[in-house]
Amino acid sequence: MTRYFISACLLGQRVRYDGRDCLIKELLALKAEYYISACPEMLGGLATPRPPAEIQFGDGHDVLGAYATVLDSQGQDVSQAFIKGAYHALKIAQDFGATHAILKSNSPSCGSGSIYDGSFSGQKSSGDGVTAALFSQHGISVLTEQEFLNALQCNPLK
Ligand code: SF4
Repeated sequence: MTRYFISACLLGQRVRYDGRDCLIKELLALKAEYYISACPEMLGGLATPRPPAEIQFGDGHDVLGAYATVLDSQGQDVSQAFIKGAYHALKIAQDFGATHAILKSNSPSCGSGSIYDGSFSGQKSSGDGVTAALFSQHGISVLTEQEFLNALQCNPLK
């Protein structure tokens, strides 16, 4: 059975760095028994709102391996909060039996395949966010919200 971990902001929770959400209304049609949600950055102890943060010179796999850092726009190293939040989110997902995760695209935590490039200029580069990297390392299939919506067109929710 497919069970999902979903980025809290995609379900309308105002947990983004800027205090806003990224609601994908189609996700609200999922039955509650099939998903659990949380915000990894808040699980790591960061507040909302908070300065935006981006991974420098690498991606989430590199942060987990201590080869790269996450800096916020004020120059603070928030790597440990991102790592702590990722492991907390993984525990929640595993305890729930999540097989898949629908994670917000491009985020330094939740992005998969593409993340902001560390320049705080809106440019992107290939790679995964810290939580997306940890989930994939533990066998959870990670989708962006767009990938989920594309799949939904082929297999509508019942
Ligand atoms: Fe939280 Fe992930 Fe959404 Fe960022 S993208 S606000 S870390 S749930």
